[in-house]
Amino acid sequence: MSDTPAEDCLFCRIVAGGIPATVVGETEHSLAFRDIEPAAPTHVLVVPRRHVPDLAALAATSADELADLVGLAAAVADREGVPGYRLVANTGAAAQQSVFHAHLHVIGGRDLTWPPG
Ligand code: AMP
Repeated sequence: MSDTPAEDCLFCRIVAGGIPATVVGETEHSLAFRDIEPAAPTHVLVVPRRHVPDLAALAATSADELADLVGLAAAVADREGVPGYRLVANTGAAAQQSVFHAHLHVIGGRDLTWPPG
């Protein structure tokens, strides 16, 4: 699994405020901001403030931070008023992960088909 040093990590720079983002929620451990290329009317990324490369690494190192991440994702979806939503964690380049800092995509606001492509 690829990793990115925190100093070169896009999402670490957003968490630190060095790159602007449209923040829609935050907790002590997590930050939620709108995806720059939305795939749906609601498309928010929820990231841990701490740099870990993917969701499995977050789960392996802190169940509390994982629960905080999922809780913030659910709170954001609730505030967006979508009737249902999808949480997506692309894991690994073969699954289209492009930023190697753990994140959940919160996707909703349109009909979502299954299975995803
Ligand atoms: P993934 O491909 O699962 O690693 O998701 C990375 C996501 O980050 C993609 O959906 C991108 O559109 C999104 N993204 C890339 N740069 C930014 C940025 N500066 N602000 C917000 N979202 C971004």
